[in-house]
Amino acid sequence: MPRVKDSAFIINKSDFGESDLIITLFTAERGKISTIGKGAKRSRRRFPGSLELFSLVNFNGFIKHPLALTRIDECQLIEPFSAIQDDLRSYFCGCYFLEIANRCCAERQANPALFALLQEIFTFLATLPLNRNFNCRIRLFELQIITLLGFRPQLSACLDCGRELNMGRLFHFSPQTGGLVCNACQPRHPAAFIVSRGTINMLNEAHRLDNELRNKLNFTPQVERESARLCRALLRWHSGCNFNSLKIMERYAENNLPVAIPDPHPVTGNKAKLNYSINGVCT
Ligand SMILES: [Zn+2]
Repeated sequence: MPRVKDSAFIINKSDFGESDLIITLFTAERGKISTIGKGAKRSRRRFPGSLELFSLVNFNGFIKHPLALTRIDECQLIEPFSAIQDDLRSYFCGCYFLEIANRCCAERQANPALFALLQEIFTFLATLPLNRNFNCRIRLFELQIITLLGFRPQLSACLDCGRELNMGRLFHFSPQTGGLVCNACQPRHPAAFIVSRGTINMLNEAHRLDNELRNKLNFTPQVERESARLCRALLRWHSGCNFNSLKIMERYAENNLPVAIPDPHPVTGNKAKLNYSINGVCT
């Protein structure tokens, strides 16, 4: 049985029996790995506060069989990113990115750039008071993550007939083709929706921005709205599923209220607001 040692983010976890946990990790060297932690709910010695969502950990375990769950024996905390759970907006956005990594990545396919991006996203979400252009940064992270997953939208020519699209103010974006379609081809793409030139220009430029510019950038409400719709349509199309966390995040943004399942075991303080959502978000 090959022993595995790696650093990883905890991207999902669920109960398995009375004392075990199924833990999904996103590792630096092997991508997503589903693991089982025997006795993980009870052992503070082997798992000392290291199994919270978003946590960056060092772990070791065994791979029994290519198709079997990896057994995780020990997990040491490197960085908890616990501040993410102190702010509902950060928390819901964080769960959205966890769910993207969990649902859109195949098992054991290394993606070190995505691992680095998750670290950047969690660092951003954990330092919220310093971030003034929160929504714009989330849009840029969405674009970065779909690019690293191989879904980068094609935004210069019609993906149906190949015609260059450099004129006009409004364009049709087709999620199933992953890019723009011209007016003549649009009837063959009933799921296509309108996107403005400002959004197309921004999305084409965004790949060239460095981090300093990303932190200064702010989108107009229209660009922000269209960019979110485009990225999320691509994610839904490629993953074939609706994201639970996205529904919660969007309802929270509309109502400015937490929308989730009440915790059957309420606690006090900020955690009381937060504990009740995770099963609805990441399972
Ligand atoms: Zn066309």
